[in-house]
Amino acid sequence: MELHKIAEIIKKNKITPKDVIYHTWRDGKNKLGEVSGKIRVIVLKKDGIARVEYICPECGHYGYLETEWKRPFSFKCEECGFRIRVPRLRDEVKRERKMEKKKALQAKKLKKK
Ligand SMILES: [Zn+2]
Repeated sequence: MELHKIAEIIKKNKITPKDVIYHTWRDGKNKLGEVSGKIRVIVLKKDGIARVEYICPECGHYGYLETEWKRPFSFKCEECGFRIRVPRLRDEVKRERKMEKKKALQAKKLKKK
């Protein structure tokens, strides 16, 4: 299953970047931090509603939902209830750097032993 619904909405309504408050396309990570899902979110100026299309990283469920747009944004998989977060990209980069640092530190510690 591939994401297609938001692409159709964009096409059908002839949506251009100036009609859009927010638009993102992310990989979804499961509980183990593995990339195994997909998330696409678009928020249109005309109604301010978040349209979310996703493949749940936990259970593989394909879903589409419309919900209130707020930051930080997250939603629950309708199938398994797994909370899928859509962090700001900057925060995500920060967290990944932190993880890398941690890993490097652990590797160093292991070497010492
Ligand atoms: Zn799920």
